[in-house]
Amino acid sequence: MKPDKEILLIALGGNALIRKGQIGTIQEQFENLKVPIQQIARLSQKYRVIITHGNGPQVGNLLLQQECCDAAPKLPLEILVAQTQGQIGYMIESTLDTELMNIGVFTQKIVSLISYVVVDEADPSFSDPSKPIGPAFTEYQAAKLPYPTKKTPKGFRRVVISPKPVTIVEKREIKALIDTDFIVICCGGGGIPVIREGRSFAGVDAVIDKDLASAKLAEEVGADRFVIATDVDGAALHYGSSQENLLEKLSVEDARRYLAQGHFPSGSMGPKIEAAIAFVEQRNKGAVICSIEHIQDAIDGKSGTQIIS
Ligand code: ADP
Ligand code: MG
Repeated sequence: MKPDKEILLIALGGNALIRKGQIGTIQEQFENLKVPIQQIARLSQKYRVIITHGNGPQVGNLLLQQECCDAAPKLPLEILVAQTQGQIGYMIESTLDTELMNIGVFTQKIVSLISYVVVDEADPSFSDPSKPIGPAFTEYQAAKLPYPTKKTPKGFRRVVISPKPVTIVEKREIKALIDTDFIVICCGGGGIPVIREGRSFAGVDAVIDKDLASAKLAEEVGADRFVIATDVDGAALHYGSSQENLLEKLSVEDARRYLAQGHFPSGSMGPKIEAAIAFVEQRNKGAVICSIEHIQDAIDGKSGTQIIS
């Protein structure tokens, strides 16, 4: 038992596993993973650790792979999200095992948990696909695709329905596991989205944003630190323009104002800022948005965008 240790929740970006300019071979993804996981291995000796992860590029690729083949039945997004939880959970877990052994830790317990997350069937997003998944296309290619796409900083990407997380179904299991010294990898890809149907749950064809799901989990298990690690150094004003200005400290009030002014788009930086605001308000503790390369520095307050009350 190490309940005296603070609970650290780290959300890893699905885009952080596939870097800009890469097509995302499995070798590339394993290589990229070492960067955050080496840091998390060391941090796990000081904190109770929960790792969540995105799946945008991976779930989009699975969808594309299905569409290339008519011989096998098509699977809905809920099942593809479950597949990416297995795929990325395994990659994180095995990389973490190796990195822990590299620092002489041989007995750390780790588990990847298939997790599902309740969403509201009345969520307005059901009529407005907003979450980018899969590879980036040029405007010309995107115009010919049979599904909706949206312009993102990476190019035009397919967008899918993305309802807000209401509650993490396995929150009690996750809390019990970290309290008994497990590192828990969970809520992958934002969790498998389900709606309540009487006494059961039914999966829905959507992808929840992993940052919003992570903030909900952080609230429900009482996390002390919340790190959102991605492929940029933090949140910037005027992102992508000559006036780009990385924010080192950001109050909740300013974060809300900049969000309303359109500095943080939905589907990328927007949900990270929303997630950080939710965490700071719920837990009255700071959150940080940082690069996967500087997780340790961000926790020490030396890197990233620190969101404070
Ligand atoms: P992840 O897979 O880590 O969730 P996302 O693509 O969803 O990654 O979000 C990170 C991306 O947000 C960055 O690669 C960057 O292109 C984009 N972005 C949009 N607006 C901003 C901003 N204001 N500051 C920093 N990054 C931004
Ligand atoms: Mg994202």
